[in-house]
Amino acid sequence: MKFETLGLNAPILQAIANAGYTDPTPVQAQAVPEALAGRDLLVSAQTGTGKTAAFMLPSLQLLTEPHPVAGRGPRVLVLTPTRELAMQVTKAAETYGRNLRRIKTVSIVGGMPYPVQNRLLKSGVDILVATPGRLLDQMQSGRVDLSRLQVLILDEADRMLDMGFKDDLDAIVAKVPANRQTLLFSATLDPNIVRLAKSMLNNPVRIEVSSQQSKHENIEQRLHFADDMAHKNRLLDHLLRDVELNQAIVFTSTKRAADDLAQDLHEQGHASAALHGDMKQGARNRTLQLLRQGRLRVLVATDVAARGIDVQGISHVINYDLPRQAEDYVHRIGRTGRAGKNGIAISFANVREHFQVKIIERFTSQPIPVATIPGLEPKARVFERNDRNDRKPGGKPRAHSGKPGGYAGKPGGFAGKAGPFAAKGGPSFAAKAGPFAAKPSHHAAQAPAGKDGWAKAGAGSFAGKRDSNSKSRFAKA
Ligand code: AMP
Repeated sequence: MKFETLGLNAPILQAIANAGYTDPTPVQAQAVPEALAGRDLLVSAQTGTGKTAAFMLPSLQLLTEPHPVAGRGPRVLVLTPTRELAMQVTKAAETYGRNLRRIKTVSIVGGMPYPVQNRLLKSGVDILVATPGRLLDQMQSGRVDLSRLQVLILDEADRMLDMGFKDDLDAIVAKVPANRQTLLFSATLDPNIVRLAKSMLNNPVRIEVSSQQSKHENIEQRLHFADDMAHKNRLLDHLLRDVELNQAIVFTSTKRAADDLAQDLHEQGHASAALHGDMKQGARNRTLQLLRQGRLRVLVATDVAARGIDVQGISHVINYDLPRQAEDYVHRIGRTGRAGKNGIAISFANVREHFQVKIIERFTSQPIPVATIPGLEPKARVFERNDRNDRKPGGKPRAHSGKPGGYAGKPGGFAGKAGPFAAKGGPSFAAKAGPFAAKPSHHAAQAPAGKDGWAKAGAGSFAGKRDSNSKSRFAKA
């Protein structure tokens, strides 16, 4: 199918062509014609499926028609759970609307200074992209008039519910015209979402896409059992030295752990920075900008901050700490394998977290093959799993061979990819990583005072140091 068959006008088609897209993704092919016909939509699609264009393209087309009522209030409102996602949606609106005249997109998110927002809102808005809390705040101050609203979009609605925005959403929806069109996008259509949809949508068309990417079949998953923090640090050090690692997001469970780990990695010569919800918006934006520009190689992040990040250079996601919720695992690993590329998602777990791993596997209906790195095998016996292919006859795990995990009775969704671990001796990244090695200016906003020099990533130094202090450092987390 071609974009030309979806009913979009010439300037939008031109912008799509300029973006380099040739064919619509499945969610776009299904959602765009229905949305153009004015229908409400209930769509289950994850990030990476092209969902942003699926709602933005028809919304932009609507804006090419004059509104019956003159005014400054927005005609399209996109609600997103996080600031990062809001920024991405704003960027998408600008990209796809670049050939349309006089379309103004404004984003209103928490953490942004009020005077700046107030100024933006005063000058008239066509598309407003907002996180619910801050929007409600601005509505209550009388700065946002939603009486002209024609399209309401809830992006990642499941996440907004998870983050406790239900009351805010209800309060916002109560203030928008009843005859608006509503497009609800969610990774899952669980009972909470269906309930929300019933209260907000009018006879919606239900679209469920199950693309290769939404099932993450383009992402090779691996699990490393770690005995303790020191072992995790050695594994991380080894992985970050892999020359096939282009850029990585390392997930920690707390903001403090993200800061500490980013700092440690920076001190060891990795172009690393932290991203979490306690950082000021300016610092978050700068960090993301460096990541997009490829000037940051390792982003150490918490779940909230990393939601929605769409950076094509991210080759690896590393779960330094397992996510608390299985659903977050899916979102985390979806940060790699963007735009049709392949990705690698590696999780660390200790023996006690074995059950958590099982919950994740049940949620995704995919086994996570266990891998080991020669010389860095776990001491503890953790292989009660059915990983027959990962066992030696004596029951001990053997080195990951790059072969699928061979879960009993399950098809190998991970087949055919040679894991870089077994074969490679872990060449020093500093020697090969081009722009990442030895450039002080590359370090992100988080550079600790007095630490802007770039140490060479000498083999073993990182692991050794982190071993010695990891106990106290992680006690803080
Ligand atoms: P999303 O699911 O909206 O986060 O989009 C994921 C990525 O796919 C983004 O980098 C988009 O630029 C890209 N994308 C969206 N639609 C298409 C398309 N039809 N063809 C190729 N890439 C696309």
